[in-house]
Amino acid sequence: MSSEIRDINLWQDGEIKIDWVKANMPLLRSIEEEFTETKPFKNIKIALSVHLEAKTAYLCKVLAAGGAEMYVTGSNPLSTQDDVAAALVHDGLNVYAWYDATPEEYHRHTSKVIEAGPNIIIDDGGDLVHLIHNEYPEKIKDVIGGCEETTTGIIRLIAMNTAKELKFPMVLVNNADCKHLFDNRYGTGQSVWDGINRTTNLIVAGKNVVVAGYGWCGKGVAMRAKGLGAEVIVTEIDPIKAMEAVMDGFKVMKMEEAAKVGDFFVTVTGCRDVITEKSFNVMKDGTICCNAGHFDVEVDVAALRRIAVETKVARKNIMGYKLANGRWINVIAEGRLVNLAAGDGHPAEIMDMSFAIQALSALHLVKNKDTIGISEDKVIDVPKYIDNEVAERKLKFWNMEIDKLTDEQEKYLNSWNG
Ligand code: NAD
Ligand code: SAH
Repeated sequence: MSSEIRDINLWQDGEIKIDWVKANMPLLRSIEEEFTETKPFKNIKIALSVHLEAKTAYLCKVLAAGGAEMYVTGSNPLSTQDDVAAALVHDGLNVYAWYDATPEEYHRHTSKVIEAGPNIIIDDGGDLVHLIHNEYPEKIKDVIGGCEETTTGIIRLIAMNTAKELKFPMVLVNNADCKHLFDNRYGTGQSVWDGINRTTNLIVAGKNVVVAGYGWCGKGVAMRAKGLGAEVIVTEIDPIKAMEAVMDGFKVMKMEEAAKVGDFFVTVTGCRDVITEKSFNVMKDGTICCNAGHFDVEVDVAALRRIAVETKVARKNIMGYKLANGRWINVIAEGRLVNLAAGDGHPAEIMDMSFAIQALSALHLVKNKDTIGISEDKVIDVPKYIDNEVAERKLKFWNMEIDKLTDEQEKYLNSWNG
């Protein structure tokens, strides 16, 4: 066993956090029971790079219960929780991650999990897949396949696949209904406001909230802003998404107009340069900007640093930038994912579904290891049976039942002339 973490003595605090989420993740608990019995990952090494907080730690424990040898790192230096990392090491897992890792440390930590020679890769944003293809091509032969957690990671995998550069199969976890419909929409919707509220401690009601991007995440962020009493403005580049925002009751305008009136700005586009110098220069004094999209390039913090005449830590995890016009612009968590770099990420009940899809997709890869890598096409959708199973089990845990089609109904729905 080897590890690189901040402080093993923190393990008890981490264990309390993991026990709390476990109590609220019944799906993963049921999978853990099955894995403990069947040990499907015996002799399998799994490299995992996902935000290293309690829910991810529980996923790691579930996979380890299934017999996997776990090699764990974080997917963002600011979302790693040192006590949680310590609890995993205390449980005998190999962990390489700490909060606020420098780019060099982050690279070393991700390299360690690849150097272990994984058979399965669980990635969040493509860092591990990128690393193994570019720096460790000799390790590719041992990889059965992997699973990708998020939208941006999938966009990159599809680009690699099209260029025939993807050398092993990757399951597109984010595209499962039980992932993006709930995680991206309701998870991001709630956890973004949790992050903003706990970091700013300001009221949202009556304020103008600008949401950039009306995809799955943006819809959730806008919906919950409305619930908090805000006036919501959406910016988009896609006319259909913009129409959807209008029909959902929101104002739609260009960023350069929204910049003049917004109090809070949340970017969730997966794009870059969404809020730039031009916008900062017309923003109101005290404006709060943050990002919930994959990379820290949606809010152009570099430009803000360049044009600021003064900077100060305005509050823990909030940096204030004074512009030449005398106005202060505040940025939460350096423009990194606000829900994870300034909060605990999505709630346990949401990650229960996302990570159940991860665990069952990893199982699918192992069960089908002899056939799954053969196709030229290396990107794989989550099989429908996994999506259905996750939804069915979740409903059962909620004590909810749904109707079943009768034979006559099924016939009626499948006929064209009846
Ligand atoms: P999506 O594709 O459903 O939505 C993105 C939306 O942004 C689209 O409607 C697109 O038209 C719009 N857009 C793109 N460029 C834009 C621009 N310059 N200005 C305005 N709008 C623009 O994607 P999604 O699932 O909503 O994910 C969005 C991002 O959030 C991705 O980077 C994803 O990886 C990340 N993500 C974050 C979390 C989290 O916990 N914070 C959770 C899931 C996904
Ligand atoms: N590597 C990226 C990660 C993308 S974040 C980065 O630079 O930060 C988006 C993903 O985070 C989502 O797909 C979501 O499933 C995941 N996520 C959200 N809350 C989480 C949590 N509490 N624990 C683990 N992952 C979480």
